[in-house]
Amino acid sequence: MKNHSAWLLVLILTLVFPIRSQEPVRFIDSGTAQKVKAELLQKHGEAEKSRVERGVEQAAGLWRQEDGGTDDFAAFCRENFVAGGAALETLADKLDFYGEAIGGHFTEMALDKDQPVDLDWGEITPLDSAMNGFDPAAHLSDDLYRNKCAFVSLLNFPVYTLAEKVAQGPTWDRRQWAYARIAGSNPTRLPAEVSQEISDIMAAAGRYVSEYNICMGSVLGPDLEPLFPSDMKLLSHWGLRDELKARYADAQGGLVRQHAIYRVMERIIRQEIPQEMINSDRFQWNPFSNYLYESGRQVEAQREPDTRYRTFLETFQAMRRIDPYSPLYPSHIRRSFDVGREIPEKEVEAMFRELLASPQVRKVAALIRRRLGRKLQPFDIWYPGLRRDAAVAEEELDKIVRRKYPDAAAFEKDLPAILVKLGFSPERAAFVAARVQVDPARGSGHNAQAQGKKFKSRLRTRVPQGGMNYKGFNIAMHEFGHAVENILDLHLIDHYSLAGVPNGAFTEAFAFIFQERDLEVLGVGEADPRRKELKVLDTFWNAYEIMGVSLVDMQAWHWLYDHPQATPTELKEAVIAIARKVWNRYYAPVFGMRDQVILAVYSHMIDYTLYLPHYALGNVIQFQIEDYLKDKVLGPEMERMYLAGNILPQLWMRNAVGSEISVKPILKAVDRALKLAK
Ligand SMILES: [Zn+2]
Repeated sequence: MKNHSAWLLVLILTLVFPIRSQEPVRFIDSGTAQKVKAELLQKHGEAEKSRVERGVEQAAGLWRQEDGGTDDFAAFCRENFVAGGAALETLADKLDFYGEAIGGHFTEMALDKDQPVDLDWGEITPLDSAMNGFDPAAHLSDDLYRNKCAFVSLLNFPVYTLAEKVAQGPTWDRRQWAYARIAGSNPTRLPAEVSQEISDIMAAAGRYVSEYNICMGSVLGPDLEPLFPSDMKLLSHWGLRDELKARYADAQGGLVRQHAIYRVMERIIRQEIPQEMINSDRFQWNPFSNYLYESGRQVEAQREPDTRYRTFLETFQAMRRIDPYSPLYPSHIRRSFDVGREIPEKEVEAMFRELLASPQVRKVAALIRRRLGRKLQPFDIWYPGLRRDAAVAEEELDKIVRRKYPDAAAFEKDLPAILVKLGFSPERAAFVAARVQVDPARGSGHNAQAQGKKFKSRLRTRVPQGGMNYKGFNIAMHEFGHAVENILDLHLIDHYSLAGVPNGAFTEAFAFIFQERDLEVLGVGEADPRRKELKVLDTFWNAYEIMGVSLVDMQAWHWLYDHPQATPTELKEAVIAIARKVWNRYYAPVFGMRDQVILAVYSHMIDYTLYLPHYALGNVIQFQIEDYLKDKVLGPEMERMYLAGNILPQLWMRNAVGSEISVKPILKAVDRALKLAK
């Protein structure tokens, strides 16, 4: 069914011939570089000293023999170094122009061509899979070195380390920030064949995750009774988790169904799930006993052969291919934090541990126990009942949503009205909504960001036959938050190189803020006056869950770098051990149950290469923004915040809410809320 051959070959080659030390040998000797620097200094004066020294070093570091001899290098620098001032501004604007012209179109091409896989367009053929793995921009970086354009920015715009940005960034003006972004944080020169291999592997991992459905009609209870509607198909882990959360409202049979889903998740993590149960409803399965049945008769089952961890391992090997080309940050972990997030890993980890170990956890847990009237179960990490006292039944919400949005087009048509409800002016709402396109998603939904002002942000959402349901709407609101962020900071920003956000956590923050306002948008009243306070508790409980999940992800990556030759089975054992350790430290004392592995269930860990800490950080950032928005109108404030663009996270935050990212405000708010909740 899937076309595995191409990337399998790559994988075998990678495993059999572990990454050779391909560290590119420096071609420009230091004598040549010195000579060029002296010449440029003489021509442009001492004022340009630091730019000359850094620029020549940066260009020399990535110049290879095929780019030309040392004389060619010297001539290139002489011709292309631009003195500061108006000429440099013109150069920066030109590079922005080309960045958008090329980046915008390549992104658009990829989004267009990937529609058969990303959208609900029926069966994925081997051709679709192959085209999905094809990256039209794979040779772009090579080409830009070959025509020397990449060297123009290396020569003129100094790359700053994270420490330098932290120290100097607060005094930079918008131009200086734009210059820092043009230079990038980590210049690498990845050969086209390497980026193509990586892109193939990542695409295959994405397919593994997006096709991992459990047909819940085939899942049986402890007494072999069917527990779920026969047509219910849930994507792991999102769909499973959301169904588990929805079952809190089911006083009759909720608990046994939650236990069943929990067992399904455990079997997936431990890879004990019968292969026959993945994406198929041919058999019936009792996840408690792990027995498989066909028309009532027990049959032999084959467990999933650690494919989950083989896929994870492949994404690790893919990221590792970049290491030799990334001398400043030679590991994916460093790149993920110092370059991707621009907050040091230690700082992020300390923030997570501070919240996880806070005394507030036990107090909120006690409140949940009282509400549930039973001992806590491990899946109560997803307890959703802190946010709304008298929630409208989901069936009722389904009806409202289905009526409102019979298809994706109806949702798209309503986008301006949704924005007006969120406080945007009608003009701004129309401007943004006109630049968002709604497509039927294959998975649970996502938003594909446009990179050029000519193109639309693509909001992918799942609309079943007969209309959108509440779950789908709730996710669509999240994705709409991403889309609005995309349009605002792409179109209204002062410099293209500053378009976007400091890191993924910031786009997640407003996505969650949109998602939170789903009932408001539907016009379903929330009369509970304690709602705001309870919402703080809910945000805190979510942070408690996702920070544990994030620590597991982070520790798994450290384990991988310590054991690069691991087998899928060894990785499985390691992830399970890590999940257990994090559980035993921060959750077992609260839940009174040791050795749970549930923190390893997230699918992101398999195909999103250390993305999960973004959600946890996003949670903290979201809370601080929500807190700030309490007495303000969302629309104009969102616009003001996002116009800061892609600057340093802590600076963005100070500009947005007046203080840096920290878990302390939420801990304080939890104390206040607990007093009121009593
Ligand atoms: Zn998101």
